[in-house]
Amino acid sequence: MSNLEALYQEVILDHNRKPRNFREMPDADRHVDGRNPLCGDQVTVWLKLEGDKVADVSFKGVGCAVSKSSASIMTQVVKGKTVAETRELFEKFHKMVTGKMTVAEREQMGSLAALGGVSQFPLRVKCASLAWHALKSAIDGGGEVSTEGDGPAPTQGA
Ligand code: ZN
Repeated sequence: MSNLEALYQEVILDHNRKPRNFREMPDADRHVDGRNPLCGDQVTVWLKLEGDKVADVSFKGVGCAVSKSSASIMTQVVKGKTVAETRELFEKFHKMVTGKMTVAEREQMGSLAALGGVSQFPLRVKCASLAWHALKSAIDGGGEVSTEGDGPAPTQGA
């Protein structure tokens, strides 16, 4: 394992031990439940919008270290971002975990880069993207999400 991969590993373990924004949000505008049946991960993401900005975001759930740390890092990263910026981050994150990003691009992802290693483990991609799918659904005003059927699809174009 390279030093960088070891650092990424440490970030994941830290967020798993001490998940950030791990709480219910009674005054949230929306919340969405997400589940990943393949691994057993369950997450609820709460979202509070102020105009087009993510004023607050939180989550709670049970699951593996990857799903929990990914949700934790996500809440830190998107808080204060606009809805458009959040959608853009979702697209980038998805590109990274499905292995469509170069090493250099991954290094521009900040703390999110810690999850980039899952691209080598197709089952873990669903764990890492679960909270993001829930957040996107919350932004879109949608309901419950399941990552079944999501993942690196070789037939998917650009
Ligand atoms: Zn998982």
